[in-house]
Amino acid sequence: MNAPSSSGAADSESAEVVLTTKRVKTLEREAKEKEKEYADGQHANIIDGIWHCSNCGCPENIAIGRRKGPLGDKSQCGTCGKFWHRHRRPCPVVYNSSTEYHLDLLQKLRQSAVADSSY
Ligand SMILES: [Zn+2]
Repeated sequence: MNAPSSSGAADSESAEVVLTTKRVKTLEREAKEKEKEYADGQHANIIDGIWHCSNCGCPENIAIGRRKGPLGDKSQCGTCGKFWHRHRRPCPVVYNSSTEYHLDLLQKLRQSAVADSSY
């Protein structure tokens, strides 16, 4: 029986030191590239003069607050912005800039919330 763990540990220790600065730079670059990629997938904030969330498209009169997103400050609604802040990627939703669509979504959300709390 040989002991691969002892020789392996010494190897990875020295390799880790070399990797650290390089890796941090690579990770930083990758994160920036990802954010750029995410920003490309976002939509315009202003449609017909009205603010819409760049991720889900909900208009300003329905959006609960405005938060930071891949496009910058106040580019996403509260729900999408929270997800972005927590996961560093856009909330996976269907983009739709129509008010009716989001009112319908909200109504469904409220209905399920009422159903949840009424038992
Ligand atoms: Zn949104």
